[in-house]
Amino acid sequence: MRFSNYALLCLLLYGVMAPAQVTVLRHVTIIDGNGGAPRHNVALVIKGEKITGITAAEVEPPKDAIVIDLSGKFIMPEIVNSHGHLGLLKGTKVSGENYSKENVERHLLQYQDYGVGAVMVMGTDRDQAYEWRAESHEGKIPGATIYTAGRGFGVPGGLLPAAMNVDLYRPNTPDEARKDVDELAAHHPDIVKLWLDDFWGQFPKMKPEVYAVIIEEAHKQHLRVAAHVYHEEDAQRLVDDGVDALAHSVRDAEIPDSLVAEMKKKNVAYIGTMSLDEFLTAYADDPAWLNDPYFRDALEPGVYEMITSAQYKKSVQDDKKTPAEIAAQSIERKNLKKLFDAGVLVALGTDSGATPTRAFGFAEHQELQLLVQAGLTPLQAITVATKDGAEFLHASDEFGVLRRGLKANLVVLDKDPSADIRNTESISAVWKDGKKVSDGPHARNE
Ligand SMILES: [Zn+2]
Repeated sequence: MRFSNYALLCLLLYGVMAPAQVTVLRHVTIIDGNGGAPRHNVALVIKGEKITGITAAEVEPPKDAIVIDLSGKFIMPEIVNSHGHLGLLKGTKVSGENYSKENVERHLLQYQDYGVGAVMVMGTDRDQAYEWRAESHEGKIPGATIYTAGRGFGVPGGLLPAAMNVDLYRPNTPDEARKDVDELAAHHPDIVKLWLDDFWGQFPKMKPEVYAVIIEEAHKQHLRVAAHVYHEEDAQRLVDDGVDALAHSVRDAEIPDSLVAEMKKKNVAYIGTMSLDEFLTAYADDPAWLNDPYFRDALEPGVYEMITSAQYKKSVQDDKKTPAEIAAQSIERKNLKKLFDAGVLVALGTDSGATPTRAFGFAEHQELQLLVQAGLTPLQAITVATKDGAEFLHASDEFGVLRRGLKANLVVLDKDPSADIRNTESISAVWKDGKKVSDGPHARNE
C-alpha cells in the first residue's frame, strides 16, 4: 500500500471510529409516542444522531457527555405531517410560480420551528423534488424531512384548477393513466396521489375507470396510492378498488360499519385533515387564536390582514357552502373516532401550505387539538401525530417514537401535553438527528 493510501485509510478509519458526542437530557418527563403513560424524571441518552437509551435520571452519565438539565420539561417525538404541500405558498398566493428550492427550504424550516419533523407532500411537487428529497434525507437541506408523491394525478379541466399552475398528470383514458404511472414510478415517489373530486360540482370528476387503473398500475410498480376524497360514495369505490390511503376525511356522511371493516381488513390508512375544514369557516368571525403570537408568527405576510378584513369575513359568511362545511366538521370528527376505535391506521395530516390559511406548523398543532375534540385522549392524539405518521411514511425504523436505536428527533415542551393537548404548543426546543436545531416558534421573530 502506498503511503498516501495508507494515510487516507487511517483518516477514514479515524473518521468512522471517532467517538460520537454523547448528550444526556436529564430530569425530564418523556412521552415516547407509543401511547403509554409519561415517564417522569428520566434521562434520554443520545449518541451522535441516535437515542442510545432512556434511563433513570440519576444514572451516572458517561465521561465526556454533555449533560443538560431539563427539570420540569417534557419531551415528545417530532410531529409527522402525513399530508402537506411545500413550495407553493408565498404571501397570500398559492401557485406553482412560487415553487423553488428557496421557498421549499423556508417552509421546511418553519415546520421544524413548530416541531414538525417530516412531511409527505401530497402530489404538488415537480421533478426537482426528488433531488431535494435525497438532500433532505442526507441532512443537506435543513428543516423537516421531505417525503413526496411527486406529481399527482388530476383531471383534464378539473382539480387541481389550472390557475394554480401545478404540474399534474391529467390522464383522460386508462391507457394514458397507465403510461403516466409508469413514468412517475421511474422517479420512486413515496406514494401516488390522485384527486378525483368535483369540488362541489364545480369541476368534472375523475372517471372511475381512470382511477381504478392508476391504483392497479401503481400496485404493479409497488407503489401505494392516496386519494383526495370528500364523499362517502367515492371513498367506498376507492377502497373497493384497492386504494391505500384516504388523504382527507369523509365529510358528507357517516362512514358505514361495513366500510370501516373493509378499510381495517385492507389496511387503508386515514388522514383526517380536520383543521383544513376548520380554517375554511373559522374566519367568518374572530377565532380564539387570532391574536396569539404563536399563530401570527406562522402566517405569511399579508394573510393576517386578509383574514381580518371585512371583505374576507363577508365572503365566508355569504359562501353558500359554509353551512355544509360547518356540518362537515362534526361528521368528520365522528368518522375519525369511529375509524380510530376500529383500529384503522389514522395518521395526522393537515394540508398545510395548500391555502394561505393553512399555516405550516400552526395547522399541525390545531389538528392535534381537533383529534382530542374528536374523542381521542391527548396521548392517543400524540401517537397519531408521531408513531402512526412514521408508520404511514414507512419510516418507523428511523423516527416516530423515542427509543434506543432511533433518531433523536424530538420536541422539548414547557408544559405537559398529556394533561392538555394545547401544551404541544409550549415548544422550547426542537432536536433533529441528535442536535438542537430550533428554540421553537417564539424565537422566529426575535
Ligand atoms: Zn392536499
